[in-house]
Amino acid sequence: MTRQRPLLLLTIAACGLIALFFGPVAARQGSPADTRPPGTNYKAPAWTFNKITDGVYHAVGTGSLVVMSNATIIEGDRDVLVVDSQVSPAGAWALREELKAITPKPIRWVVNSHYHFDHAHGNQIYGPEVEIIGHEFARQQILAGKSQDSPAREFYVGGVPAQITELETRLAAVTNDKTRTTIQSQLDIQRNHLASTNAVKPTPPTMTLTETLTLHRGGREIRILFLGRGHTAGDVVVYLPKERIVATGDLMVNGTSYMGDAFIMEWVDTIAAIKKLDIGTVLPGHGAAFTDLAKLDHWQAYLRDFWTQAQKFHKAGTPWEEAAKQVDLRGNAVNFPAIRTVGITPNHGMRRAYEMLDGRVK
Ligand SMILES: [Zn+2]
Repeated sequence: MTRQRPLLLLTIAACGLIALFFGPVAARQGSPADTRPPGTNYKAPAWTFNKITDGVYHAVGTGSLVVMSNATIIEGDRDVLVVDSQVSPAGAWALREELKAITPKPIRWVVNSHYHFDHAHGNQIYGPEVEIIGHEFARQQILAGKSQDSPAREFYVGGVPAQITELETRLAAVTNDKTRTTIQSQLDIQRNHLASTNAVKPTPPTMTLTETLTLHRGGREIRILFLGRGHTAGDVVVYLPKERIVATGDLMVNGTSYMGDAFIMEWVDTIAAIKKLDIGTVLPGHGAAFTDLAKLDHWQAYLRDFWTQAQKFHKAGTPWEEAAKQVDLRGNAVNFPAIRTVGITPNHGMRRAYEMLDGRVK
């Protein structure tokens, strides 16, 4: 005991000295990423880092934490660029922590592929040493509160408190141990999700573009490109010409993408612009990476089909809510197996189509 005390005192003194020397620097840099955000009470890894090529990974959530969007990791010679910052500070924090097992290089660049909540609501964990890059429109939308106050966010996250209540009720009634464990883990995930999304302070990009921005990081060329309106009015893709890889945000997802803020037929043209790039691999905003470029054609066909039908319903005077129930996209089911019935959920895409057809969207 007595032999340990001087060592303890020495340690305290040393910490004090370190605080004295480094305190003001730490306070100046003050990276919020150093503080563990709410909603990170989880055990199993939150991320799988799928290696695409040397220094490029497609990060996909495991489900132990709700992250909602994928991330793309691109290593440069000195630092790392990450595409998208997920649904909450917790998701982004987990990514940053777990990335340390993949590379010792620090994250210096974050790209928001677009302004939606599930791609930009982790921005706040990054300190002033990190530039957050996005389209000028994405910055404006986030500043105007549109990432937080949106029908998309309400649809995908608004039901979480009710889900928690339901899980609590089921947990109280359950008698089987195995079921109890399953419900408890679902409850933990949703409680983390609620705590983390409640902690969101929408934080806009610090560096914006309207056309292109290219980073040269050692031998790595990273092009950030606006190729036209589509999923929103300000989607950017991140393109690696040498590696023939493109991270698309939600312009392309592995499945059908949300259309509530879309420019539906311009989206077809923007996909055409992506097809003109020399690419071999697509890293989508949701779902698995893919090399089957026919998926780009399939998405264009879906958008055209949707738009053609929306025009017919609109012309016939069908209310948009009814049109959303009647629109029949099953002709695309061969390429989108999740389509099993008539109608679309959420119905936001049809409301958007009517807004456009009414001339209410510029
Ligand atoms: Zn989106």
